[in-house]
Amino acid sequence: MTHLRSRPRVALFLDVDGVLNSHAFVLERGKRKRPPYELHERLDPGAVRRLAWLHEQLDRKGLEVVCVLSSTWRLVADRGREATEAALRVHAPGLRLHDETPDLEEELGPEPPRGEEVARWLEAHPEVERFVILDDHDDLAPYEHRLVQTARAVGLSDDDCRRALELLLGTAPAHR
Ligand SMILES: [Mg+2]
Repeated sequence: MTHLRSRPRVALFLDVDGVLNSHAFVLERGKRKRPPYELHERLDPGAVRRLAWLHEQLDRKGLEVVCVLSSTWRLVADRGREATEAALRVHAPGLRLHDETPDLEEELGPEPPRGEEVARWLEAHPEVERFVILDDHDDLAPYEHRLVQTARAVGLSDDDCRRALELLLGTAPAHR
């Protein structure tokens, strides 16, 4: 059996609120069901499936995709990476959350810049060749050029996914 260690590794940094859900989704959900909501009901199935599509496209291009949770969901007791992964998989069974960014709150104070947390993760993972950040916020310095900023009104769109693919596969300067 051939092994796949030589596949180029890319990372997707994943925010949740405003990416895998949206104002439009919350509005629609409210018409169908009242709270409380299960964790997977806080995710827009359409947005999760678009993420799965993006993952699949990268996989087909021979890339090894590492999904890294950068959302504050990773820090919330009833969420966290494992619970969030399970919720994602309700909508797209193949998805995994391989890792999460470090929490720098103790070091940098409340609401540390997310770009700093991404930087710290990348330092620890020099094997990652390229990456994109999916987020509705823009506190991603110094990685604005790797940010696909979603609109929180609608969440992760087809255009966002195509943009992420361009950044990971295209001719734009790819390296970190
Ligand atoms: Mg967000």
